[in-house]
Amino acid sequence: MLDRRSFLNSMGVSVCGTSLYGLPPFSAYTLNEAMAAAKGDGERAIPTFCGMCGPSSGCGIYAFVKNGRFIRVSGMKECPTNQGAICAKGQAAPQWVYSPARLKTPLKRIGAKGEGKFQEITWNEAIGIIAEKLKEQKKKFGPESLAMLSPARRSYSDYMQRFLIVHGSPNYGHSGICAMQRGFAFSYTLGGQPMCDYQGSDVLIIWGKQPFYSGPAQSGARNYIAAKKRGAKIIAIKPSIEPDSGMADIWVPLRPGTDAALALSMLNVIIKEDLIDASFVEKYCYGYDKLREHIQKYSPEWGEKVTGVPAKQIQEVARIYATAKGAGIDLGNGVEHAPSANDAIRAVAILMAVTGNLNRTGGGGNRLGGGMGPGGGAGSTKSVNLKERYTQEMVDKLVGPEFPKVFQPFLEGTSSAYYRILDSVLTEKPYPIRTVIAPGTQPTVSTRGTKRVIEALRKLDFYVVVDVTRTADMNYADIVLPTATVYESDHPFELMGGSIMARSRVIDPLGSYKSIFEFFLDLGVAMGYGEDFWHGSMTACMNDLLSPLNLTIDQVRENPLGKSLQASGGAPGGPGPGSGGGGRGNFESIFQAKSSRLDGAPYLPQGKVAIYNTTFEKEGYNPLPEWREPPESVTGTPDLAKKYPLTLSDYHTSKCYTASWQRNVPYLREVQPYPMLHIHPDAAAARGIKNDDWIVVESPHGWMKVRAELYPGIRPDTVMILHGWWQGCNELGLEDLPIGDGGANVNNLYSVDPDKAFDPLITAMSSQTLVEVRKA
Ligand code: SF4
Repeated sequence: MLDRRSFLNSMGVSVCGTSLYGLPPFSAYTLNEAMAAAKGDGERAIPTFCGMCGPSSGCGIYAFVKNGRFIRVSGMKECPTNQGAICAKGQAAPQWVYSPARLKTPLKRIGAKGEGKFQEITWNEAIGIIAEKLKEQKKKFGPESLAMLSPARRSYSDYMQRFLIVHGSPNYGHSGICAMQRGFAFSYTLGGQPMCDYQGSDVLIIWGKQPFYSGPAQSGARNYIAAKKRGAKIIAIKPSIEPDSGMADIWVPLRPGTDAALALSMLNVIIKEDLIDASFVEKYCYGYDKLREHIQKYSPEWGEKVTGVPAKQIQEVARIYATAKGAGIDLGNGVEHAPSANDAIRAVAILMAVTGNLNRTGGGGNRLGGGMGPGGGAGSTKSVNLKERYTQEMVDKLVGPEFPKVFQPFLEGTSSAYYRILDSVLTEKPYPIRTVIAPGTQPTVSTRGTKRVIEALRKLDFYVVVDVTRTADMNYADIVLPTATVYESDHPFELMGGSIMARSRVIDPLGSYKSIFEFFLDLGVAMGYGEDFWHGSMTACMNDLLSPLNLTIDQVRENPLGKSLQASGGAPGGPGPGSGGGGRGNFESIFQAKSSRLDGAPYLPQGKVAIYNTTFEKEGYNPLPEWREPPESVTGTPDLAKKYPLTLSDYHTSKCYTASWQRNVPYLREVQPYPMLHIHPDAAAARGIKNDDWIVVESPHGWMKVRAELYPGIRPDTVMILHGWWQGCNELGLEDLPIGDGGANVNNLYSVDPDKAFDPLITAMSSQTLVEVRKA
C-alpha cells in the first residue's frame, strides 16, 4: 500500500534527523575541549545539565557564557547518559532563557478570571498569600481540598508529593496517561516492568513508541540503530510512519487506540497454532486454560475489522514474535491513551510470558524490575517523598483516584487523575477541590475536554500557576509565580549511570524569582512545616538527601563532571523508570514482589504470571483482558462515522517541543512553525485539499483550524497532529492560537464522557475520536 523508500525520500527523513535552520552547528566536547573552545573576551564553559525536557533529564552539557550572557550549549562527552549527544531543544536553550515570553515577577490577579489583569507583587508576598489561603481552606474544608497537577514525572515531582503529604492531601494529580499505566498493568501481570533488551534480541517490536523523539537524547536512538546494524528484525506498530518505522522491516499500521485488539488477536494466533512455551506456562503462569477459551473470539479476522490491520499481517507478526530466538517488545506511551489501555498492556505482558520470550535472551525478562518512581534507583540518596507517612485515611480521601483506592498508593505515591481533579470542581463529587497548584503544566492544553477545564478554572476558588513562561491558562490564576530556569539554579544534583553530579548555575536569575524547588521549601516554611522543609535552606535539603552517601553538596561540587558512587560506597543508581533489578531465571523471587499498597499485598497472589487476574476479579474488574471500544470509532459508533469518517489521534512528542512548551523559541519554531495535520494524499484529494492548505478539523466535541501536510505514511482513514499548540513566537511574528474552537488544541476535540473515555481501572483517557476535514 505504501512505497516506504519513496515516502522517506519525499519527507527528507534521515537517521540524523532534520537539519535545523538557525541553530549553531552541533558540538560535543570533553571538559578540556570545552575549555579550549571557550574563546577570550570572558567566555567560559560551565559543566551542568540540560533542562529543556522537563526540567531535567540528565543530559550533561557545557553551557557557554560570554560577558555574563548564556550564549550556546554543547554536549558533554563524559556524561554517561547522553555521551555528548544533545537534541535540538537542548541546543536552543539560550533562546528559551532570554525569551520575551518569560515571566519576570510574581503576579496577583486584579481583574475578572480570564481577563488577564494582574498586579506585580514580590515573591514573599505571593508565598504569603498562598499560605494564608491554604491554611484557611485546610481549617474549613480539610487538607484534601488542595490538589497539585503533574502532567509527567519531573525532577520536582517528589517535592510536590512531600508538600501534599505534610499538608495531609492525597491529591497529587497525575496525568492518567503516562508511564504509571504501563507500570500498573505490567506489575499486576508480571510482578514488575520488563525493559526492552535492544542488545540481546533478534526481533524487536517497537509498539506505540517513537525511540528517536520520545525520550531524552540518550540510549533510545543509539540502541535502535545498533540493533538494526547487527541485523535484528524490527517491527513498528503505530498508525503513522516516523523515522523508526521508516527503518523498520515491517510496519503494522493499526487504527489509533486499537492496541488491545491487536494484542488479543496475536494471542489468538499463537495459542491456536500452539506456538507457546509450554514448560514456561506450566511452571510460571496462572490461568492459561481460561485464556485459551477466552481468546477464541479474538480471531485475526475479527482483529482486522477492529484494527484495520490485515489478518494475514496479524498472523505474520504473531508468528515472527513467537518463534524468534529472543524477541523484545518496547511498549511506549502510545498504548496508554485508550479506554482499553490496561487490557492492551496486560495482553502484551501475556504475549511475553506465554511465548517464553520473557525467559529468553533478548526477551526483556532479564530486566524485569519494579524500579519505577523516585530517582536514586538502588536507594543511593534519601528520598524526598515521605511515603512512609501515608495512611488509609489519606487514601480514602482521594478525590478522583487514578487507580482504584484499593491499589493505592502506587509507585509514585497516592494519585488522583489530573482530569478528575478539575472535574470535581464542577461536579462537587465526592467533594470539590478548592485550590489547584499547577507547577509546569497547562490544564487547558494538557488534558482532554478543554471547554470543561476552562469552566472548572473559572469556578475554582484559588488557582496558582508556577512556571517559567506565560502559560495558556494563567489568566485564570489568582497568583502567578515565575520560576528560574535550570540554567539560573545551582540545584538539585543528578544521579546517572552510577555517579552523581551537581548542577551549576550558568547565569544569575533574570527576574525576581527563585527555583521551583525553593518554591516548595518557602511555601512549606510559610505554612509552618519548616521542620519538614529544611527550614527553607536548599543547602540543608541537599546535604540531608546526600547523607546516606556520606557526602555533602560541596563535596559533590568538587567534581564538576560527577563523582562515582562506587567510590563513595554508594550503590549505583539511575533516575526514572526501570532502574530496578530483577532478572531472568530469578522469577520465583520477582513473582513474590510486594506491591506498594498500604497492606503490601503481593502483585501476584499465586506467585505466577497473572494471566487470569484474581486480584482484579476480586475488585470487580476483568480477570482476563478484553477489547473495549474508544468512545468514538468506526467500529464502535458506525453511525457517527458516517458524518465523521476519519479517525483522529495525536502525537505526544516531537523533535522540537516538549508537550505544550517551547513554541516561543525561534530556533525550534522555524523548524516546526505551524500545527500540521498529517493526512493521507488520497483522503486529502477526496476533499480537494492540497499540501499546506488551511483546513478545518471537526469532531463531535469541537473544531480546530490547522494546516494540511499530505503524508503518505499514515493510514488513509486516520489523521494525526502534534498536541500542545497554543503558544505564539514573538520573534517570528506568530501570535498565540485560541485554546478552544478555532485554535489548534487537539484536546478540545476529544470526549470526556465519564462512562466511555476512561479505562475503568487505570484511568487512561482516550485520545481518539472521529472527525471530518474540509478546506478552511
Ligand atoms: S533530550 Fe534534549 S532537551 Fe532533553 S535533556 Fe537531553 S538535550 Fe536536553
